[in-house]
Amino acid sequence: MTALTPRVERYARLQWLIRLRWLALAGVSLGAGLAAAGLVPGVNIEVVAAAVAVGVLTNLFFAWRGRQRGETDDRHVGQAVLDTGALTLVIWAAGGADCPFLVFYVFPVLLAALLGGRAALWPTGAACAVGIAFQFAAVRADWLRVGTWDPIAPYDRALAIGALALTVGMAAYFATRLSDALRRQMTARQAADAMLRLAFDGLDAGVEVIEGDTITLQNHRAARLFGGRIGERWRCPGRRDGRCVSGGACEGGMPERCQFTRADDGGRGPEQIYEMLALALPEPRRMMALYVERTAEVLGQRRLMLTERLASLGRAVQGVAHELNTPLATIQTLGRDVLDAIGVGPVPAEVRADIDESARMIVDEVQRCRRITHALLGRASQLDPLPAAGEAPVGAAIERAIAVVFTHARERVQVDLGGVAGAPLPLDPLVQIFVNLLQNAGDADPGGPITVTGYRGQALRIEVRDRGPGLDPEAARHLFEPFFTTKPPGRGTGLGLYTSYALARNLGGELSLTDHPEGGALATLTLPLPPAG
Ligand code: ADP
Repeated sequence: MTALTPRVERYARLQWLIRLRWLALAGVSLGAGLAAAGLVPGVNIEVVAAAVAVGVLTNLFFAWRGRQRGETDDRHVGQAVLDTGALTLVIWAAGGADCPFLVFYVFPVLLAALLGGRAALWPTGAACAVGIAFQFAAVRADWLRVGTWDPIAPYDRALAIGALALTVGMAAYFATRLSDALRRQMTARQAADAMLRLAFDGLDAGVEVIEGDTITLQNHRAARLFGGRIGERWRCPGRRDGRCVSGGACEGGMPERCQFTRADDGGRGPEQIYEMLALALPEPRRMMALYVERTAEVLGQRRLMLTERLASLGRAVQGVAHELNTPLATIQTLGRDVLDAIGVGPVPAEVRADIDESARMIVDEVQRCRRITHALLGRASQLDPLPAAGEAPVGAAIERAIAVVFTHARERVQVDLGGVAGAPLPLDPLVQIFVNLLQNAGDADPGGPITVTGYRGQALRIEVRDRGPGLDPEAARHLFEPFFTTKPPGRGTGLGLYTSYALARNLGGELSLTDHPEGGALATLTLPLPPAG
């Protein structure tokens, strides 16, 4: 609370304290005047004058410092102890414990409690206790005595009654001030709470403040979304309806970001998509959860993705048409040539050689067309659900792929699959992926070594590494795009990575191709662990 007290308020408090001290000094000076006039002859005027001088000087100093800095020691411990000292001097001069103004020791304690709270109360209380003990000692030990309390009648009674009345009056004044301050604080707090609530409720987002795992603040929107109440346990929205689709798991406490769906009006209206953002607050164990509606953005993103997919499908179709067009045109021309040659009658020996050549080229071009259609069929097959049967250990799939690609040079491939080798996965797609990856590795570094390494952790990871030149910068930008190839015509179709990526995704995994830090390229296939048993 103290830390939040504004400077202005602290300065006003200091001013009040200074005014109070001037008043007290005036009272003591008046008393000293009465004593000097002979009403209380035993009072030691010199000591009282010294106390007044100390009071005046310190008050001037506090006033000056307050003006300079606009504030002072927030707990006022210094002033309280100093005032206790000055009071001790005055009472001592007026006869120690015999003086009825001994009850004035209550004022420094009350002031300390009022201005500095508990922290100031103890040192001031201790100073007062020492002062009172000193006053009692002063009436007992003659050598400690500097003055006596012996007012002439009837001032003895009048001063005793005055001391009591002043004490009661001042105590009442302090109590009123204290209760006024409390009331002011409460009103200010209520106003701040109301403003905060108004601001929170006006937000176009749900807001909850969570301390530990309990909701300590909630706006209308959040209450409407979840139905939870302040004081109840906070529950992750994803866990609540089981659809926290991304951005960290609910199980780990509070996910940083998480998307979930919810009907804003408690289940009657259509479902909307929300995003939860968790923000850590400065206080320990305090978090703020913001629930922002993202329906329009998310649907927009999905539409964009669909459009992009359609565009890429269009590009793929164009590419296929283009790829097939060239060999088909060649076949047509060659076929016509053959027909022409046969149509003119018996075929002379030199024309026969041309016909043979044309027929061979027709076969080659048809082969090329088939390569393209095969690659496409491979892609098409992964659109269908994967067959449950046909599973084989990963090791067997890789062996098969090596046999297909490097029939007579299998030793080029070093395989170290570790715990991955025995994992059963669908054979066909896996063989196709590795045929493509090994083919690329072989093309990148003809005759060079290739390593296939397996790692088993929370998922299966298989890496294919070659020692070739690595990725061409242009290729790095277009990897996985259909028909993108840097290989010469007839050697590459640009469908290998595209197909492999689609197959990997269909198996629930991921495929990436990067430059290896030590040279060459590194293809990484990540697949989920097959279910146990
Ligand atoms: P293709 O092999 O028919 O060209 P891919 O889709 O398999 O089609 O590969 C696309 C392109 O990616 C290749 O043309 C090549 O530029 C690049 N690429 C693939 N693998 C590697 C590799 N291991 N090293 C270097 N570049 C590669």
